[in-house]
Amino acid sequence: LPAAYAQSQTNVWVEYVQLAMKYKPLNIGQGFPDFAAPKYVSDALCDVARSDNPLFQQYTRGFGHMRLVNALSKLYSPLIGREIDPQNEILVTSGAYEALFSTIMGHVDQGDEVIIIEPFFDCYEPMVLAARGIPRFIPLRKMTPTTSGIASSAEWALDTKELEGLFNSKTKAIIMNTPNNPLGKVFRKDELEIVANLCKKWNVLCISDEVYEWMVYKPNKHVRIATLPDMWERTITIGSAGKTFSVTGWKTGWAYGPAKLMHNLQMVHQNCVYVCTTPIQEAVARGFEYELPRLGQDDCYFVSLPRELETKRDYMVKFLSETGMKPIIPEGGYFIMADYSQLAKNLDLSTEKDKYKDYRFTKWMTKNVGLQGIPSTAFYSEPNKSLSEDFVRYCFIKEDGNLQKAADILLKWK
Ligand code: PMP
Ligand code: GLN
Repeated sequence: LPAAYAQSQTNVWVEYVQLAMKYKPLNIGQGFPDFAAPKYVSDALCDVARSDNPLFQQYTRGFGHMRLVNALSKLYSPLIGREIDPQNEILVTSGAYEALFSTIMGHVDQGDEVIIIEPFFDCYEPMVLAARGIPRFIPLRKMTPTTSGIASSAEWALDTKELEGLFNSKTKAIIMNTPNNPLGKVFRKDELEIVANLCKKWNVLCISDEVYEWMVYKPNKHVRIATLPDMWERTITIGSAGKTFSVTGWKTGWAYGPAKLMHNLQMVHQNCVYVCTTPIQEAVARGFEYELPRLGQDDCYFVSLPRELETKRDYMVKFLSETGMKPIIPEGGYFIMADYSQLAKNLDLSTEKDKYKDYRFTKWMTKNVGLQGIPSTAFYSEPNKSLSEDFVRYCFIKEDGNLQKAADILLKWK
């Protein structure tokens, strides 16, 4: 295995999906909905599969099916405040994952530094290493004391001085993720401005992973960093149909940004994936066309889903607190980080051999209690994993009945 990949051989998803298959726990670990997608989206895919038009089953345009890039342009142009060219400023990818990969591979060269904010979606680090770049980590730190009894992700922030200290002439890019997975932090505009100003000062690319853009809970607002002054020119923004329409298995995502930067992604994409699946792209396009006229209205899925998720979030915060865990209320996304240390105080986890306590705890829980969470140190670099060993990550985009079962399992066991 080439050195660029040899250093990233473990993967939390590979390991925990396998664990779930073996022990069949109630899975509130990996982030995917356990309920159906909106009917018009799945109907669209059925219609496409049965369509008289044979071309829906054949290759489509490599950089994105025209109907989908047109829909994405219609969606994002008003949100970004400029006309986005569907042909040259949008790339459709195999999930947001490939959008991240193409962005990183298309920009990062050997020795280039990439700033990654912890906790981070785990693939950022191996992707930067695969490009032979150097990840430079900065953790979100608890900057504000908890006043209400239960902490909020808003209390975690970047230390501006520490951030400034990371930028230098070797910095090629910074990866932003708002709402953040796994903490749920939604970056405020003033926080993004600090990042934007440093990007401009040091001529740095901003990679903005916004796959949870619609899952933002009141009173927070999603701010797209590409809309800040002079940021369009240096930002690649990434989205996901899987998250947007609750169809994570469709693995369709996109990146948008200025043509000059998008060219670099296209070069990776055309030599790797070349073209994404046609029927899925056609169905996602139809899904957007269905939502576009009712954007922002109560019946729009991008409004109704977060409303439902907010209730699920609050329920999970409540039952985790009742078991003695200390959850952090997320402002966005569909995950909750919770400190389980009180609960695990008297547990004998010695049957598990992992290096980090959260791995031992989550594996022990899967095998002995029948409930699966994700170890949060998977979202930290090696030197900073100790910051997070007391935390587990749970996912709340699950049927109410299953959340209830999770609560029952935990309360009965504690
Ligand atoms: N970024 C973040 C922050 C995520 O949580 C995910 C979830 N898988 C992705 C990117 C990848 O999205 P996709 O499933 O569309 O590849
Ligand atoms: N984004 C999801 C999560 O964080 C799924 C990750 C994955 O399967 N790679 O749980």
